[in-house]
Amino acid sequence: MKVIIVGGVAGGASTAARLRRLDENAEIIIFEKGKHISFANCGIPYYCGDVIKDREKLLLLTPAQIDAMFNIEARVEAEVIKINREKKTVTVLDKQSDIEYEETYDKLVLSPGASPLKPNIPGINDERIFTVRNVPDADAIKNYIRKNNVKNAVIVGGGFIGLEMVENLKHLGIKISLVEGATQVLAPVDSEIAAQIHNHLREKDVNLYIFDGVKSFETDRDLTINLYSGKQIKTDLVILAIGVKPESKFAKNRNVGGRVQIHSFVHAGFFSSHDSASENFRISGKARFARGTGIGKGEVYGIELRKGRTYRKGGDEPAKGAERTGSSDPDGSPSGMEGDQRR
Ligand SMILES: Cc1cc2nc3c(=O)[nH]c(=O)nc-3n(C[C@H](O)[C@H](O)[C@H](O)COP(=O)(O)OP(=O)(O)OC[C@H]3O[C@@H](n4cnc5c(N)ncnc54)[C@H](O)[C@@H]3O)c2cc1C
Repeated sequence: MKVIIVGGVAGGASTAARLRRLDENAEIIIFEKGKHISFANCGIPYYCGDVIKDREKLLLLTPAQIDAMFNIEARVEAEVIKINREKKTVTVLDKQSDIEYEETYDKLVLSPGASPLKPNIPGINDERIFTVRNVPDADAIKNYIRKNNVKNAVIVGGGFIGLEMVENLKHLGIKISLVEGATQVLAPVDSEIAAQIHNHLREKDVNLYIFDGVKSFETDRDLTINLYSGKQIKTDLVILAIGVKPESKFAKNRNVGGRVQIHSFVHAGFFSSHDSASENFRISGKARFARGTGIGKGEVYGIELRKGRTYRKGGDEPAKGAERTGSSDPDGSPSGMEGDQRR
């Protein structure tokens, strides 16, 4: 059996490792469009804040290590740009050589994750405005802070990642403002708990702008944020942490395209993991997709692949116990919920 895995971080790398433990003979190839596989996403805010000082600690496995340990081939800077379902191939862009080629598969696992939201707000593409997803993002934030003597920062979005960035940039001695569009930070918690978090943030000298949103960024010389309330915040740096959207563009690039087609992938026996699985939720309330931590999901998919199971229309659950907590999704719903619960 030849298995291709799209995406080489949480869900992808753990699916590959689990599958290898279950099947010594499978040919397993991971395609990762970034430079790194299996890095510690969760450590990134702490690396930005110098709590984790050693960059190497974020990089859990290199392609050479995963090959030596598990006999798994990981191709980095290799972006899957198309799925040719009839031929059972994927088209891959080697980003170093700029050459496209096809690779065949027997089974295909999609674990491309989700990318940070960057809505069309005037001024949002200014170089002082950052998002946080991977190691290059962390490098960019750290370099900018180091070179520009950053004294003030605004974090937009009071979810888990936003709050972690508040904590970590504060740790560097930077004065922080937090802008949150909802009536509280951390949407999943009760308002009584959120009120305590608001108090704690204020005690730590964080300027809180709750129930307010960014209308525009003025970027002429100084960086100024105009809020809907009419307030203005002048700052050196902005971190956007306002949610994510599934990275499903390549899956749509298959002649017919569109959300319904992604749905049919799933029912045709494709495996879609973790952050990207939320796309499937929106498409069909019937398909039951366990979402959870990338690693937990990877283990489930490793088992399912070995058994050769596919999902039936109407939805099978991949395995018991797969629903675990993880990141929030673009709709702000906690992960672990199933499609019909979310509506
Ligand atoms: C800063 C930060 C902190 C976090 N902290 C926590 C935490 O404390 N606890 C927690 O549970 N979760 C946390 N998360 C969320 C967690 O990291 C994600 O839920 C998890 O990584 C999702 O796994 P995944 O495999 O779906 O996607 P990812 O781990 O994002 O992996 C997807 C990979 O696929 C690659 N890819 C995408 N498209 C293609 C393509 N076409 N071809 C090839 N490769 C492609 C991407 O480059 C990416 O590297 C955090 C996330 C971030 C960004």
